[in-house]
Amino acid sequence: MIVPWLKKTWEKMVNTLHQGTLPHALLISGSAGLGKFEFAVEFAKKILCEKKEPQSCNHCHSCQWFAANSHPDYWLIEPEEDKKQISIAQIRDLTEALGKTGYGHYQVVIIHPAEAMNRAAANALLKTLEEPSGQVVILLVCDRPAGLLPTIRSRCQEIRVQPPSDENALEWLTSKLKSATPKPSELMALADGLPVLALHLAESGEWEQNDQISEDFLGVLTGKLSVLKAAEKWAKQSVEQVLTILSTFIQDLIRLNLGLSASQLQHSHRAQEMQRILPFFSLQQLWSFLTEIHTAKRRVLSTANPNAQLLLESFLLSLHLDQRRK
Ligand SMILES: [Zn+2]
Repeated sequence: MIVPWLKKTWEKMVNTLHQGTLPHALLISGSAGLGKFEFAVEFAKKILCEKKEPQSCNHCHSCQWFAANSHPDYWLIEPEEDKKQISIAQIRDLTEALGKTGYGHYQVVIIHPAEAMNRAAANALLKTLEEPSGQVVILLVCDRPAGLLPTIRSRCQEIRVQPPSDENALEWLTSKLKSATPKPSELMALADGLPVLALHLAESGEWEQNDQISEDFLGVLTGKLSVLKAAEKWAKQSVEQVLTILSTFIQDLIRLNLGLSASQLQHSHRAQEMQRILPFFSLQQLWSFLTEIHTAKRRVLSTANPNAQLLLESFLLSLHLDQRRK
């Protein structure tokens, strides 16, 4: 899937490939949720494809191997399961494998996200970037180029992916969504204006999961769901994510309190329910809820292994909802 805002880059890169002037290392940088990784995978497939066409042919041996995830000349390096970093061992295994002759003309590596390489891993990669063996192409996909070693960055040709206009992003997202709920505009708001992330929220079911959190929170605010029960349910998910949803929910209540319309809300389909509970809380209380959320978030970030349930309970209790509803 090449998103419209990357089509020109695609054409340019394919031209470079066909002219035989492709650099050994490309750094594809820009905010997460813009389709950089998907672009890199498509381009890796295109580099390996045996046909000289504007797109991968999808029929040659190479394309078939690629589709079956068994291409001998392709490596995807990501943090191993349950880990946040790409280790030196992973890079060493890679560089050893790269030395050996492969099937075709090129060998392609994607490192994603490149900033996940720890210092040792990045240093191990440097040598390969300096003296690439054979026709190796390394695609580094990176959300935060500032997190990369400058020596790595300087050895790559950088492609900076710019976000599309809101209008174009919304048009693209609308064309991709299979159902009418959630609304594209709502997804875009939740994804902070990043269209590929917005689509991911809808397709992965994360949106529904997130929406369940706002429904539960409504339950807590109206006294229909106990604090303990809510904390128990939410503790199964990322606490940071739960707090982010709660924070957008409170922000919506503040918007309504200030007289903004339902269409300007992040959880716009819950506008009616929000209107109903709005009279129970003053603007000052809503602001203090936000402060409590930020405090809880800080607590999550400052602890290596926070007890999710306990943290959520103490956050919900800190809102003193029992007293406020009276
Ligand atoms: Zn092909």
